[in-house]
Amino acid sequence: KDVSKIYSLPFGDVTALNHVSLEVMPGDFLAIMGPSGSGKSTMLNLIGSLDVPTDGDLFIDGTNIKNLTDEELTSLRRDNIGFIFQQFNLLPLLTVKENVEYPYILKYRHGDYEGRCEKLLERVGLTDHLMHHKPTELSGGQQQRVAIARALINNPKIMLCDEPTGNLDSKTGSQVMDLLAELNRQGKTVIMVTHDADIAEYANKKIVITDGEIK
Ligand code: ATP
Ligand code: MG
Repeated sequence: KDVSKIYSLPFGDVTALNHVSLEVMPGDFLAIMGPSGSGKSTMLNLIGSLDVPTDGDLFIDGTNIKNLTDEELTSLRRDNIGFIFQQFNLLPLLTVKENVEYPYILKYRHGDYEGRCEKLLERVGLTDHLMHHKPTELSGGQQQRVAIARALINNPKIMLCDEPTGNLDSKTGSQVMDLLAELNRQGKTVIMVTHDADIAEYANKKIVITDGEIK
């Protein structure tokens, strides 16, 4: 609600978001479109509480995140949000299994996750023989599926996807989008940034950000 984000830089301030308001309902599949530098990633990072607004209020499930301690905010994020990025952002030194399990261990501080990785890999359409491979041994589409499995391990309500198909060819991109659409049908709220009008067609709502404002 009325959210602004200003980055302060040595050569001056950059207004990345200028008094934007947006409501996303449970079960929505929202596409955020707009030109490069318009504020799309900034908006996603604020929704995911990876960053804080300069001004305005952000509510997740009715909770104003302004009123939370850092610890409470981390816990709200871990309970509610899964992130997927254009560059997959898998940890290169960890195996597929270790990547997928990592957010679970961060949240629960124990490794009682037997079978979860296998089930999640199956859910995203990968066979579990990839579990002990390193990310670099996988194709782009396989890496993005691993990233989706990782985002799902704590069963978040909301999936935030920043250009999820930006590094994939169109066929692989469509397969990844089919998977996100399936997760949405199963009840996940999906908020996705994309440049690509065809990819945005998977969403049931669209907004366009231009110069930090929703048009
Ligand atoms: P793209 O489509 O190229 O990914 P975008 O719409 O995601 O662009 P943002 O990354 O949100 O755009 O950037 C919006 C504005 O904020 C840009 O002017 C950018 O340079 C600036 N910006 C983004 N992140 C930072 C940061 N961490 N520090 C300073 N300025 C930033
Ligand atoms: Mg971006």
